[in-house]
Amino acid sequence: MLCLSDHFVLSVLWIEHRDGGLRPMDADQLREHAHKMVDFIADYYKSIENFPVLSQVEPGYLSRMLPDSAPNHPESLEDIFNDISAKILPGVTHWQSPNYFAYFPSNSSIAGFLGEMLSAGLNIVGFSWITSPAATELEMIVLDWLAKLLKLPDDFLSGGQGGGVIQGTASEAVLVVLLAARDKMLRTVGKNALEKLVVYTSDQTHSALQKACQIGGIQPENCRLLETDSTSNYALSPDVLCETIAHDIAIGLIPFFLCATVGTTSSTAVDPLLPLGKIAKSNGMWFHVDAAYAGSACICPEYRHYIDGVEEADSFNMNAHKWFLTNFDCSALWIKDRNALAQSLSTNPEYLKNKASQANMVVDYKDWQIPLGRRFRSLKLWMVLQLYGIENLQCYIRNHIKLAQQFEVLVAQDLRFEIVTPRIFSLVCFRLLPSQNSKDHGNELNHHLLDTVNSTGKVFLSHTVLSGKYILRFAVGAPLTEERHVTAAWKVLQDEASALLRSL
Ligand code: PLP
Repeated sequence: MLCLSDHFVLSVLWIEHRDGGLRPMDADQLREHAHKMVDFIADYYKSIENFPVLSQVEPGYLSRMLPDSAPNHPESLEDIFNDISAKILPGVTHWQSPNYFAYFPSNSSIAGFLGEMLSAGLNIVGFSWITSPAATELEMIVLDWLAKLLKLPDDFLSGGQGGGVIQGTASEAVLVVLLAARDKMLRTVGKNALEKLVVYTSDQTHSALQKACQIGGIQPENCRLLETDSTSNYALSPDVLCETIAHDIAIGLIPFFLCATVGTTSSTAVDPLLPLGKIAKSNGMWFHVDAAYAGSACICPEYRHYIDGVEEADSFNMNAHKWFLTNFDCSALWIKDRNALAQSLSTNPEYLKNKASQANMVVDYKDWQIPLGRRFRSLKLWMVLQLYGIENLQCYIRNHIKLAQQFEVLVAQDLRFEIVTPRIFSLVCFRLLPSQNSKDHGNELNHHLLDTVNSTGKVFLSHTVLSGKYILRFAVGAPLTEERHVTAAWKVLQDEASALLRSL
């Protein structure tokens, strides 16, 4: 168990009273306390492998450990750290553990951490250029850098009509572009046509799109989740899309939005962007590409082809907070027509008016997003790009993909298991093969295997269902994962599978 008390001289209560009042950002106190916090975090990372990866607490555990109301008088920092160790950390699932293989990764790094720290230190609210010119301008520059690294078309760069913006999540990204696309179409066909607007995507697309449709007032029956299957490795078929659009037009509906995914959440399927984009264009639709996870891999020349066709897209999104060493949250969105976003999202109240905005000389990111306030998130992405450099970032991605390949080989060598879909990036989808007389295709067996493996606390994996089959997902991408963690994880899986099969 992490014990941090060594770092403390008994903590002092000088946060509270000096000159009779609170001095919440006194520089000397900040230095002392922040050093202790950094020590705490560094110790956490040193001992991260000692924690169960998946928190093993029961629901409601914390309310049994903490008082009913906030203290009237300050606690010492030492007591608070003790509480963190004894009460908070047991309820943490350790996403940064090298034995974390669930969902998709959510990377931290020293560079990302430092950027977050600086952002917290400056604590600006950069909704308009004037509120901190550096925040807007650094965001534009860093997203241009990343766009160039991904070889996105020039239309996505900030020099023309387009540009990049950091959203909190891919969900917010798809929501804002859906709103822009909806309003663009309604300006053409008339605002009473909302209930005729139709969205197209595959049944593998992240549920974030469905949520965006709910918020955007799109009729649920007008969201086409087009069926995919194993014959196309769960990629969206352009033919199916064409047929569906033609049918919808014939019955008087209005196609307006297509969302393709590069690296779907279940199995990292890649939709064919080029033909899909051409279909969208020929039908006057907005084409959005969600590369939330796999976009990071496309900084490597050998993986860039997975986003070939992105030149047809109106918007493109990747989460730098997933697999690009930028601490959560940092979702990069690029659009070709920034006016389309502003037309849906801008407001211009008196109390925010200023010379630069009125003269149209600057970007005001408040008009590219849902909230008004926004953090200085570009700092952490800038730190990542600067402190690591492109070559190191490419190596980082390649290493994870190599580790996933090694895991895939291990699974393939054990005839009790099967690989379910071909591995493309750093996710392996696999399952324990059921006996021939299994009534549910081994679904319960695999569910059980996942539960027992995760309850060891040694590793954490998640699952999905493809074509009715319950499947285990092994996603490599935590910053500290090495080959020894992958082989140890496989050993846990094999041991638990053996025990499970013996017990049948
Ligand atoms: N799109 C894809 C392909 C994803 O895998 C995910 C999450 O894993 C999302 C969107 C949603 O991400 P966010 O949490 O950033 O909204």
